[in-house]
Parts: sequence; C-alpha cells; structure tokens
Amino acid sequence: MTTDIEIAQSTELKPIKTIADELNLEREDWEPYGSTKAKISETLLSKLHDRPNGKVILVTSINPTPAGEGKSTITVGLGQALNKMGKKSIIALREPSLGPVMGIKGGAAGGGYSQVLPMEDINLHFTGDLHAITTANNALSAMIDNHIHRGNDLNIDPRRIEWKRVMDINDRALRQIVIGLGGPLRGVPREDGFNITVASEIMAILCLAASMEDLKARIAEIVIGYTHDEEPVTVKDLKVEGALTLLLKDAIKPNLVQTTENTPAIIHGGPFANIAHGCNSIMATKTAAKLSDYVVTEAGFGADLGAEKFLDIKSRAGEFDTNAVVIVATVRALKMHGGVNRQNLNTENMEALQAGMENLKKHIETIKTFGLPFIVAINKFPTDTKPETDFIKSWCESRHVDVALTDVHANGGEGGIELAEKVIEKAGNADQQFRHVYDLDDSLEAKIRKVAQTVYGADDIELSQEATKQLAYYEQQGWGRLPVCMAKTQYSLSDDPALLGRPGHFTVAIRELRPSIGAGFIVVLTGNMLTMPGLPEKPAALDMDVDPDGTIKGLF
Ligand code: ADP
Repeated sequence: MTTDIEIAQSTELKPIKTIADELNLEREDWEPYGSTKAKISETLLSKLHDRPNGKVILVTSINPTPAGEGKSTITVGLGQALNKMGKKSIIALREPSLGPVMGIKGGAAGGGYSQVLPMEDINLHFTGDLHAITTANNALSAMIDNHIHRGNDLNIDPRRIEWKRVMDINDRALRQIVIGLGGPLRGVPREDGFNITVASEIMAILCLAASMEDLKARIAEIVIGYTHDEEPVTVKDLKVEGALTLLLKDAIKPNLVQTTENTPAIIHGGPFANIAHGCNSIMATKTAAKLSDYVVTEAGFGADLGAEKFLDIKSRAGEFDTNAVVIVATVRALKMHGGVNRQNLNTENMEALQAGMENLKKHIETIKTFGLPFIVAINKFPTDTKPETDFIKSWCESRHVDVALTDVHANGGEGGIELAEKVIEKAGNADQQFRHVYDLDDSLEAKIRKVAQTVYGADDIELSQEATKQLAYYEQQGWGRLPVCMAKTQYSLSDDPALLGRPGHFTVAIRELRPSIGAGFIVVLTGNMLTMPGLPEKPAALDMDVDPDGTIKGLF
C-alpha cells in the first residue's frame, strides 16, 4: 500500500497564492509562509463581519482504540467531497503536536488521499505557532520566578504556584521537578513541573480568543497561583500581559494550506481533547465559515470529550451554531469495543461487532441530547468485509439513523459523496433544537455531574477531599459560572481506560480542579489523567528518518 508520505510527496500542490485568490482574499488579508503555506490576517474575521455564515459541520467519533478511527481523514475527505459537488467548502483542523507525532500516533494531517499538505511541515514545526505558545508560557514562568527572586512584592506562595512550564514533547521525567537549586544566585528553590504545550492555558486562550485585544485581556486574567494569604495572583498583577501577547502576534493568525485535492484548509491551534478542550481556534472556524458554504471541522477523540467541549465550551464562547454532526466509526474499532484484541482485528467477527455497537449507540444518544442532526460515517478499511459493513448499515437503518459508507482514504473526495449528500440534507434542516448539557448558572459540581451522567453514562461522580475544597473555594472566588473542561481518558466512556464498549454502573472519580480563568473554564481532572504524557515502549520516532537529499521517511 502506498504510504501517506508517498501520496503526499507525489501530489502536485497549487501555489498558496492561487488558493488565497480562489477564496477572494485581498493582498492585505494574508501573507505567504513559503510557497505552500500562508498566514491569514487576524483582522479578516471582523472585516467579513456582515457576510452570512456557511454551515458548520462537526466531525466526531466513537471512543478511539489503537485500531484507529480516522476523524481527521474523514474531515478532509468530506470537505473534498463537498467541493467536488460544487459547494464551497473549507476544512478547519487542529495543528499537530510533536508529542503524539514522535510518540504513539505518528502524523495528524489525515491519511491516504484525504490529507492536508504539506504534511511534513504541518506535522513538524509548521509555521511555529506551537513554539510561540511554548515560549509565551515559559516566559511567564521565568517572570514568576524572577519576581520571587527579586523580593516577592506580590507575596506569592512558592508552594501554591499553579502555573507550570511546558514543552511540546512527551517527557514523563519532567512531570515533577525541583528548580532554583544551587544557592542565592540561582533563584528560589521550589517544586515545579512540565505540562505538554497543548495543555497550556495559553493554547486554550489562543483557540478561544476573538481578536488580538481579547487575547491580551484573557492572558491578563490567567491565575498563576496564590499568595500566602490564599488570594489568587494573576498575570495582570505581574504586568506581563503585553509582553506575552507580543510573543503571540503571529501565532494568533490562522494558517492557510490545501488538501490532496487542493481544497482550502485552515489549520490553527491544537489543544488535546483529553486534557484540554480539544478544538481548533474559534477565529479559524469562524473565518472559514465566512469564506465558504460549508466548514468541516473536527474535535478530538470521542464525542464524550471533543464534541462535548466543542458544543459546551467552544461554540458557546464563539457564539456560533453547529449545523450537523458526523460520528465516525470503524469496523475495527467497534470490534475492539466488542472484545477483540488488536492482533485479531483483520478476521471477520460479527459477534464482536454487534457487541461493540453499544459504544456507537451511546455517542448517538449524546448527540441527540444536544439536539443536533447527525450522520454515522463508516470509515472503510481494506480489511473490512461486506457482511461487517452491511451489518453496521442495517443496524443504523433499523434505528432510523442516517449512515454513509465512506472510502475517502482510498478514493479522496469521490469516496465521500454519499456522506456529503446526507450532510447537505441534514445541515439544511432549519428546525433544530440545540441545547447545552449544562447551564452556566448551574454550580460547578452540578455541571460536572451532568456531563458525567448525561455524556459518559455514569451513575454519579465521587469528589476527592481536595476537589471538594477547591469547589468551595472556586465558587467563593466567583468562578462558579464558568464551563467545565473535563480531563478524562479518551479510551473509555468512563474514567478507567480499560473499560471499553459501554460500561455500566460506574462512578467518575474527580481528583483535582485547576482554574483556567483566562481561557474561561475550570479544568476537572478525573481518574489518573496526567497533563504531561510519556513515550510508549516503541515510539513512532524510531521509524523516522531523513535522507541526505532531504527526503523524509516514516512520518506515516
Ligand atoms: P483520528 O483523527 O481519528 O485520530 P486520523 O484521521 O489521524 O485519525 O487517522 C489515523 C491513521 O489511520 C492515519 O495514519 C490514517 O492514514 C489511517 N487511516 C484512517 N482511515 C483509514 C482507512 N480508511 N484505511 C486505512 N488507513 C486509514
């Protein structure tokens, strides 16, 4: 089989100017980054304010398994299919993090004949946005430590600093560290730690900000920790919001690229969906909606994580409508949910497939709770048998659930026409009853319980002593009206990654809360979730190489 990188390298890209021209962008609306990438001006969105919005199509999936679901691939393929049908479509995706690229997953730019290109740039350093976010985050850490070293006028308690350093690599050795050792010239010793960049509040802020001004206002509100009297200390107190915003002056601009079929794609921001809010930037999605009839966008992991946060956090903050949802499922992943181990996925197994459908069923119920129209997309793999794909189709049809067999990995947009037709029909239905899972007026505890019970199917939540104390403190600080950003394993509907399918009768352990006041949500850590991943036994990096002539290998 031809690899993703081989397909990417054999595709002829249009000059990025042609893509910008096709979107009718004026010269001041964009700037080239090389010949196949561009940055879109952060002021374009306000310039297009009076234009009508295209339809927003959200792509989500069942709980992921190592067998692969292919949300990004379907997102790109669906955008290409809409384009083939004569609709103006733009794909809006997240920027890949080097953590999973070097670790478990390899690239995150779609696959086969449904990729965003140049995939080697997008997967590696792209236009430097993640580096800028890393630098802004760590500049704040340096400012905090310098403030304490220089006399600590703000009375910051070094034991109560919440702000962590970050980097964009999985590195478990940095989860908990001690800094400032070596005497008075080397700062004040304290415990610190690293998160992965995509879990940084700065990443979340960049994705939720409406403009440069809003970016700065949100950065000013970041709570970095507490004083000895347990009062919150903010970036505004440290007076560095201007400098941190300056470091992000280019990162705030959405990136324009194209797909394997030259469909425009805007790629911007990349928080993970398990430990952060999991969606690309509001500016990218809304700009794409102004420039197209359809914007196809993806939220990370299953509908229990990315889609819930897309609908309860992102679309609420961005004040935009979602017009239809695509739920991606694969025969392979459903069989894993039905109990088959990874080695036996290529063998037909109708019994396991039937058992695994319970996972899809729960995600369908969740999207119904939000009141949105949806279509199930079967992402066809070469190993799927006809009885297996027929079974999923008839399972859906017998429940009056719209379903489309898609083959966009092998056939590009052509393989997504049936899906695109159904999406157009669903998204055109004006009779929608959208509702959030919780109201902002609910207490934080009630919000957490509603997500756990409605979206995960839990019996209840169980608060640790620390979480109970934090909930009371956060409400007292006036943070109780913020949405909650759940940090939960992506592998299970529950907080236990080993429970596949549709677990019954479980409680969700709420371990700890973290304030993300600038982003505008409270992070809720469940189970054993960590905000700095580690590398697996055999990292994807072991297969990567670059030849003396610059040819890249192993990036999928
Ligand atoms: P997700 O966005 O759900 O994490 P991706 O779209 O990134 O998934 O796909 C994960 C991997 O699976 C990619 O390497 C992609 O090439 C591969 N893949 C996706 N769909 C198919 C398919 N239908 N057939 C073969 N490989 C696929």
